[in-house]
Order: sequence, then C-alpha cells, then structure tokens
Amino acid sequence: MSKLKTILSKDKLSRQDIIYLLSLENKSEIEELFTHANNLTKKVLGQNVYLRGLIEFSNICNRNCKYCGIRKSNSEVERYTMEMQEIQEAARWTYQQGFGSLVLQSGERSDPEFLKFVDNILQNVKELSNDRLGVTMSVGEQSLETYNRWYESGAHRYLLRVETTNADLYQKIHPSCHSLKERIEALDRIQKSGYQVGTGVMIGLPGQTIQDLADDIIFMEEKDIDMIGMGPYIPHINTPLNKTVKNFDAKKQLQLALKMIAVTRIYLPDVNIASTTAYGALSEKGKGQALQCGANVIMPNLTPRKYQENYKLYENKPAFLASYKRDFDKLKDEIKATGKTIGFNKWGDSPHYFKRTGESRNQFQA
Ligand code: SF4
Repeated sequence: MSKLKTILSKDKLSRQDIIYLLSLENKSEIEELFTHANNLTKKVLGQNVYLRGLIEFSNICNRNCKYCGIRKSNSEVERYTMEMQEIQEAARWTYQQGFGSLVLQSGERSDPEFLKFVDNILQNVKELSNDRLGVTMSVGEQSLETYNRWYESGAHRYLLRVETTNADLYQKIHPSCHSLKERIEALDRIQKSGYQVGTGVMIGLPGQTIQDLADDIIFMEEKDIDMIGMGPYIPHINTPLNKTVKNFDAKKQLQLALKMIAVTRIYLPDVNIASTTAYGALSEKGKGQALQCGANVIMPNLTPRKYQENYKLYENKPAFLASYKRDFDKLKDEIKATGKTIGFNKWGDSPHYFKRTGESRNQFQA
C-alpha cells in the first residue's frame, strides 16, 4: 500500500501525517486526498451545502491588522455603516430565498452605540423571519457580557479567526498591542456564552510553514471548535504585510488552501467548514473546488454593491450581487455541478456542537 493510502486509512492522523498530507505535490495524490475528504464529508455530513448570506454591515474598525484592507490606518477606504433598513432588506431577501442563515460581519468596535446597533439588528432579523433565520456573528473580540447579550438577542454562532496559532508569526502580522493570548481568551468567552464556536486561519502567509498549518489544525481540535472559516492569504495593496510578499503565486496558494480544507476535514470530520470568499478570489472555480474537498458551507456576499468596494480585506474579492437573483441562480448551478444539493431553510449547524454539548437540535437545525 502507498504511504498516502496507509495514512488515509488511519482512524486518527498524527501531526507527522498532517504535515505529510499538506506537503503533497504529486497531482494524482492530491486528487486522491481531495476525493477521500469529499467522500468523508458526504458520509459524515451528507450531500447538503448550507447557505449563509453574508452582510458586511460596517467597515469601521479600531484595529490595525497588517494584512487587512479595512485596517484603521488605511485612509484610502471610505468608511460606511449600512442603514438598518438596508440590512433588513438584505436579511428579508435571504430569508425569502430559503438561505436559512445570515452572517453579520463588520470591523471591530465595542462602544455602547455599536453594541446597541448590533443588538437592534439581531432583534430585527429575528422578527422579520419569525425566528427562522439562524445568525452567525463575526464582529471581533468582545467582553463576556457583550457575547451574552447578543446570544440572548438571537445570535447562535460566532466566528473569530485567530489567523495563525504561531505566536511569533501572529506578532509579525499584527501591531504589538494585539495579542494571540487575548484572541484565544475571547474564543473561550464565546464558547462560555453558549455559541457554536468558529475560528480559522490564513493559509500561505509570508513566513508561515507547513508545520505551522499542522499546528493550526491541531489547535482547532484542542479548542473543540465547531466550525471553521479559513482561506488563502491574499495580499492587499494598502497594507504593510503586502510589502513583504515576493512572487505571489495564486495557483500555488489556492492549492495549499484546498489541501488545508481536505486535511482539516479528515482530522475533524464532524465540524462545519466554509468555502470562503477568498477561494473564489483566486480562481473562478475556487469555491466549487473547496466544496469538493471537504467544505460544506458557503457564504454568498449580500452586502450592497455600493459598499462592497470599501470592504476589501484583500484584493480581487468577488461580489455576489449584480442582481441578487441572477448571481444566486449562478451559484445554484455551481453547487449543482459539484454533485451536492443546497440545504434550503435549514441552519445546517455543526454536528460537532451537538456532540460537544449534548444539546438536541431544534426544527431548523434538523
Ligand atoms: S482583520 Fe478584522 S479586526 Fe483586523 S483590521 Fe481587519 S476588520 Fe479590523
């Protein structure tokens, strides 16, 4: 039996196995890895792909992550916060199309006005959908009190990416006032509040090694993470990290990021893994490829076009919106082409969460 087959037949991968799989270069072996991960996804999670309508409701951020296009110091960006009515319109459309869930994302703020605004969004979204739209929050590090408050208002999943679990690398890509330790403590608070907890990393950062990525995957198991939103690092021109990037190779970056999805799926079979927008930014087929090697969630971007230009964490970010309907029809075709089906009107929650907590599913989670 080949070394690859031997590894893929194991019940549990070792760190060395993860490194071996992430290092594969041979085309047919990579295909074998992807097929194995896809079959495992179907076996454990079924054929469904779950939709999360992404609303980037504000690009105002108090932080200065060195890779991010909407960092506080980037004065080239026009700052915006969507009107409540615009958010409601996007949420209503999402609900009417049977998406099942929303992701509410913004830059990080924790002033009282912002906390209240988010609270109001949650209450409105729940009201207009008769409690049926599931909500994932992605608005950064907050206090336990704030996480509890938003949970009470109806959010039930929270995504807080650590970006890398290598402490040295973390410090290189963030200003000195940001701390990996504090980030991880925030993840613990999210779990304590009762959310389904999501995290993720950037793949292919300058200075990052395959060993780092293997440790990232192991970290997600150690923290009992329920859902994963990770993606390839894509440079943004107006950021300090961009200056350290040499010979960016989109094809290689995408392949490494796809391998990361496949290996994560094999290591953590019952978590939700998103095919994030960054996969689509590197190749038109990127998001579909991610769905065929382990991802089971997709997040179409429903931020109105007039704002999308100013919510670029990285270059080339794909939009979903010439008209919602036309782009949605295209997405449906893309998902169909992967041999999967859309889990309409379902929250599509991570089975890992129910295993971790012993909670039973409600009617939308079934
Ligand atoms: S990555 Fe998030 S927290 Fe960091 S600057 Fe960008 S929006 Fe702000």
